[in-house]
Amino acid sequence: MQAVQTAGPRTARAHGPRREPSVDDSPPAPAGSGLSCSVLVLNRLYMAVHVVNVRRAFGLLCRELAEVIHLEEGKFATYSFESWREISELRAEIKLAEDDWIRAVNFEIQVPRVIRLLSFDRLPKQKLHLNRRNVLARDGHLCQYCGRHFAAHLLSIDHVVPRSRGGETTWENVVCACLACNVRKGGRTPHEARMKLIHAPARPKRNPMLMLKLTNPKYKSWATWLDGVHWEVGAKE
Ligand SMILES: [Zn+2]
Repeated sequence: MQAVQTAGPRTARAHGPRREPSVDDSPPAPAGSGLSCSVLVLNRLYMAVHVVNVRRAFGLLCRELAEVIHLEEGKFATYSFESWREISELRAEIKLAEDDWIRAVNFEIQVPRVIRLLSFDRLPKQKLHLNRRNVLARDGHLCQYCGRHFAAHLLSIDHVVPRSRGGETTWENVVCACLACNVRKGGRTPHEARMKLIHAPARPKRNPMLMLKLTNPKYKSWATWLDGVHWEVGAKE
């Protein structure tokens, strides 16, 4: 992949292969490193559409598919990858505690909090997988029988109509349940066990992991962009 389109003498490395900043995320970055950051992605119309890792964010910036949006003294400034890199060089001398940085091959660059896609207006479709993480996110980590909140490792996935009774693994038939409720229910339907679901399970209209990330913004600077967030999920045209 051709990375950065550079012009001008200070960035010209005309004869070597051009490389993206070395933002490979293996081995895992140590805690607090810039590589563990998340970056909020806006579409061309400044609507929040995604949360991506640093590697993906720089990939989009390097290919000039996105620009950095940075809050400075109460105003939003935009930067191309090259101008962001230059401004990072200046800022590297006076790093602020709340900023994150990554080391590239021969320079340091600040991790942007927000980037904006330059090319398309449509919200990218989110693939919605039926998996444990998404069921827990959909149900807000609440046991759907007793209504109490639990840490992920204390929740199990319950088939409302048990599999032994022909219950399928679908959004409409799985809920998260605490271990006590799961044991109590056993291989029975809620009706047989005289247990009531607090919500009827359904396929979420929005990507639950993304909604979780956006309703609990990781960085203060995201907040501005999270009003009126909406998502398209699934394969509808
Ligand atoms: Zn429970």
